[in-house]
Amino acid sequence: MLTEMPIVESERQALLQQSEFSIELSAYSINLPMPDHAAPRLRHSPIGIQHSPSIHYDVVVVGAGPAGAMAALGLARRGARVAMVDGSHPREKPCGGGVTRRALQLIDEDCGGDGVAIADAVFEAAGRHVRVPLRGREALVVFPRRTFDSALVAAAVRRGATLVPARATHVQRTGGTWTIETRHGALHADWLLGADGPSGIVRKQVHAPFARRQLSIAAGAFVDGVRTSEIAVAFLDRPRGYLWSFPRPDHLAVGACAQADECTAGALHAATARWLDAYAPAANRPRRTYAWPIPSLSAGDFDAERPAGEGWMLLGDAAGLVDPITREGIYFALRSGAAASAALAARDPAREYEDAIRDTVHDELRRAARIKDAFFRPRFTALLMHALDRSAPIRDVMIDLIAGRQSYRGLERRLLGTLEVGLMMKLIASTLISPDIRPSPAP
Ligand SMILES: Cc1cc2nc3c(=O)[nH]c(=O)nc-3n(C[C@H](O)[C@H](O)[C@H](O)COP(=O)(O)OP(=O)(O)OC[C@H]3O[C@@H](n4cnc5c(N)ncnc54)[C@H](O)[C@@H]3O)c2cc1C
Repeated sequence: MLTEMPIVESERQALLQQSEFSIELSAYSINLPMPDHAAPRLRHSPIGIQHSPSIHYDVVVVGAGPAGAMAALGLARRGARVAMVDGSHPREKPCGGGVTRRALQLIDEDCGGDGVAIADAVFEAAGRHVRVPLRGREALVVFPRRTFDSALVAAAVRRGATLVPARATHVQRTGGTWTIETRHGALHADWLLGADGPSGIVRKQVHAPFARRQLSIAAGAFVDGVRTSEIAVAFLDRPRGYLWSFPRPDHLAVGACAQADECTAGALHAATARWLDAYAPAANRPRRTYAWPIPSLSAGDFDAERPAGEGWMLLGDAAGLVDPITREGIYFALRSGAAASAALAARDPAREYEDAIRDTVHDELRRAARIKDAFFRPRFTALLMHALDRSAPIRDVMIDLIAGRQSYRGLERRLLGTLEVGLMMKLIASTLISPDIRPSPAP
């Protein structure tokens, strides 16, 4: 229970005052990402356990992406002694950076002014293009992860969380206390939150690593010097998945994703390169390539997941909380961070968190997992293109799906409510058979 814990403000202030890092922190803010040359100084910052070995934290969060930073922010606001361990900032995470309306609504701190509000979405399949206007619909903003994540970390630090700029190398629980080892010393805490991404060490320690079939690969390139306010989404037959192009203020984030046991990074790089070669604004622009895993669980996997246990919780990607169709993960990372910080104020935090994740996030993601296979069939994507082209009500449904205002629960009813009965019966027959009546595919 964290609500009754005292705020040890004096300790925090003392640390901040003896630290160069306190000066850096004010620059490490939303619109002023830390210059690269500052990073080595951060790593030697006196804010670290090697200079304050006596601190026993209420909570240590390993990983300060959206999930970890959101949890630390909530906990710090509640007066908990919380440390984030992450030596990667400032950094650009390989990601589209598409932040849906529902995700932005979870953040009540300034998260930066350098997002691109998306005005149009262009869908592509089988040689056909359909443009869906989004202007004024507040559906999606695309951010560089460097500034988006930095802003959240800075907000958590402003509220009292400590950033330990180091990599956690080992975690262990003895007698109810966690020890988190880093190259610069160890931290001790009552609770350990694993927010260290799909390959994180916390998940491996407390649960099990993801199997290859539970992951997608995303591979693509950042393309410098292209400015636009439209996104492109192209459905791929082989490998089965999709390609996206998301614009940041001064570059595009382009990539293709597919299930890891059905493709290689090479095939996805080739798909991205082919798309970029045909996209005139990207001609002769420098490309910086990347490849990265994304959790993509089946419906059965969600049933077997364990988001919390004795003294630990898994958040965001580390808990597999990514939509297996769209691969949207930022919303679920933020949501799990908020749920973890709220649960830690309850009488039985692990149960509270597990219930919150199972009842809301797992329910939604399980529905996506059940329709995923059919969603990427060429027959469905061709019908979808036809429906988007012909029907304004169906374009409205798509806009709400992009924004996250339309969940998978209720999608079938909403589609039928568009009164495009003939079209909808075909779409539903080919894919969107209610998850409640469709048998779950074997995991
Ligand atoms: C190519 C690609 C495109 C994507 N596009 C989108 C998109 O457009 N929209 C969307 O919503 N989602 C997208 N996603 C998914 C999204 O990026 C993730 O779901 C989201 O970042 C998860 O947040 P997180 O905080 O759980 O983990 P992360 O953002 O991965 O953060 C984990 C943090 O933990 C740190 N860490 C790891 N190991 C350790 C350690 N041992 N010690 C200390 N720190 C550690 C890492 O440095 C990192 O900072 C995309 C993913 C990929 C790969």
